[in-house]
Amino acid sequence: MKKTLKITGLDCPVCAEALEGDICKIRGVKWASVDYVSQTICLETENEDVVARVIKKANKFEQVRVLEGDRYALNKNSHSKEWLQIILSALFFIGGLLLSWLSENRAPRIVVYCCFGVAYFAVGYPVLISTAKNVSKGRVFDENFLMTLASIGAVALGEIAEGVLVMLLYQLGELLQSIAVGSSRRSVAELMELKSESATLLVNGGTKAVNPEEIEIGDVILIKAGEKVPVDGVLLSERATLDTKSLTGESEYKIVKSQEEILSGSINVGGMYEMKATRRYEDSAVGKILNLVENASAGKATPEKFITKFAKVYTPIVCCFALAMAIIAPLLNGLIVENKFCFVGFPRWLQSALTFLVISCPCALIISVPLTYFSGIGACAKNGILVKGATYLDVLARAKIVAFDKTGTLTEGDFRIQGVYPAEGVTEIELLETVASVEYGSAHPIAGAFEGHNRKYIFDSIEERAGEGVIASLNGEKFLVGNEKLFLSEKISMQTIDTAYTAVYVARAGQYLGAIEVGDKLRADAKPSLSALKKQGISRLVMLTGDGKNRAEKIANELGMYEVKSELLPDDKLTEAEKLKGEGTLVYVGDGVNDAPVMSVADCAVSMGKLGSAAAVEASDVVLISDCLSEIPKGLKIAKKTRAIVLENIWFSIVMKVAFMVLGACGVLQLWLAVFADVGIMLLAVLNSFRVRFLGSKMLK
Ligand code: ADP
Ligand code: MG
Repeated sequence: MKKTLKITGLDCPVCAEALEGDICKIRGVKWASVDYVSQTICLETENEDVVARVIKKANKFEQVRVLEGDRYALNKNSHSKEWLQIILSALFFIGGLLLSWLSENRAPRIVVYCCFGVAYFAVGYPVLISTAKNVSKGRVFDENFLMTLASIGAVALGEIAEGVLVMLLYQLGELLQSIAVGSSRRSVAELMELKSESATLLVNGGTKAVNPEEIEIGDVILIKAGEKVPVDGVLLSERATLDTKSLTGESEYKIVKSQEEILSGSINVGGMYEMKATRRYEDSAVGKILNLVENASAGKATPEKFITKFAKVYTPIVCCFALAMAIIAPLLNGLIVENKFCFVGFPRWLQSALTFLVISCPCALIISVPLTYFSGIGACAKNGILVKGATYLDVLARAKIVAFDKTGTLTEGDFRIQGVYPAEGVTEIELLETVASVEYGSAHPIAGAFEGHNRKYIFDSIEERAGEGVIASLNGEKFLVGNEKLFLSEKISMQTIDTAYTAVYVARAGQYLGAIEVGDKLRADAKPSLSALKKQGISRLVMLTGDGKNRAEKIANELGMYEVKSELLPDDKLTEAEKLKGEGTLVYVGDGVNDAPVMSVADCAVSMGKLGSAAAVEASDVVLISDCLSEIPKGLKIAKKTRAIVLENIWFSIVMKVAFMVLGACGVLQLWLAVFADVGIMLLAVLNSFRVRFLGSKMLK
């Protein structure tokens, strides 16, 4: 079973990695992913007991607590406790400094030490406790350990004030970081507000307030003005006006008429109305969106994985180096200066080693990476683009080829009859009614064109042939409705018609009955979206379609696409997609009708959401909620920005760290300055990641 647990109190990506390791070791856990930024544990286990064990384990880890219920822990706390500790500590620290300067020798030293002691423990106790906890479990070299070591080292060297300052600055940095991360977290958690707190159920003439989860299919719900729609359903009242902004990012008033579909998450901006639930909460738009967003952090991107791996090898190396600096350097010094085996300049080297260690602390380096991806996913979600994991954001940013399905993706998939060509001895009505009866059993968009017509037959069986058409049978007689390919494979003769639309051929018991032309319109935003993609450096736009060559090429021409592969069966689409994938990072955009296999093979599959089509949402990596192609260039822009900022932050942090490490090793840098630099680098990187959020909000306007 899959499960997502919400936690609080996880302080850094390295700790997340450690906790993930611990959880994976529990028997019965298939996989687990712990995410620091979203504070979640996603896992798959054999049964409920294992989950209980995971919760127990997590609760024992540092300050981590597993939360009950499914709400995000929005630490709306103002961090007042932390601020108080820091201010208290700072006051005592300054007091101590003043005393020791002003009253040189006059005030008893003990008072000064007391001041520094209070200053140190006021901010340092959680760090000391975590260090003790971790060391007792054999987990050393985390930032708590480093800060404890550095501050105690400084005190041991007689630099008491410095030891206190190290802890004070470190905790100030942690606090600022937690505020920054909290604000990013909140910006994503706002999405969670899509969910209604409660819904009004109509029961035997009266009303009853229930949770959205309790609503069953068929229940009648009353939606008051200003309320959110709790589950997907159809309208029972005459009409309703809905705002879909929270779903799609674009403020758009939609008027829905009786019996039309209503998506959950939309807000009722008109009067009160009644609706009937057609999906349970988990299967409704909102339930799906929230589920996707919550689990998105499990799919970690390459730079993210790289950086945690990097931290794993880097930390021990740096520690060995520091140890060498503290022991071997003074020994060498002794050998050179005194010509015998002794320590010379040990305090100076120890200080350099400590400084070096403090700067090397990898937590600050890696915090901004998951944070940036998280913000990127959030920025996309706000714009109606659901990205199922940081990996896909990364793939999107690196995309070279974008391939499109035609029907339902580039075109609206809303087919209309354009012409009817019965064979000799067949009337138009007969032809239309035959097709309408066969298409009744098909889920293909083409079938929609015949919805309004009478059905002449009720068949024993109806078989859909993907990419070809439909075969129905009645009392042993076979009815064929589909394209040339279907007739070829069934070896039935027919007369092709020359058309710029899609031709649907019809036969009954081997006898050709005629053809019907059906056509659907291009999506209005198809052309601008494609040219936006070209501008963003996508060199190849390819159309993959099962439709006829004429129709495909006509549409490609209108759109300015140069590569068209037509008359493809679903298997051929797969082969073509594999070929394209070999030539560059491939993004595939489809509607989920006959193209689920292609979706699984593409580096990143985008589905035109219509959140109704469950198969597409399941098979794809990115879902466009509002069904607008223009969301693709938007998503690409956010993805590119995210990746650029991630790389910027990685390089910036590494270069700065190396520079400061060299300075520290040379003994130029004081210990407190090292902490200051460490905190500064981290904060700059975190602030840089905010740019993704700004971009996301700017696009909304
Ligand atoms: P696309 O790749 O453009 O989305 P599909 O693979 O869904 O197209 O379908 C390819 C072709 O198969 C259609 O253009 C049509 O000729 C034929 N076809 C598929 N399903 C049907 C159907 N239900 N009725 C008639 N023709 C169909
Ligand atoms: Mg299609």
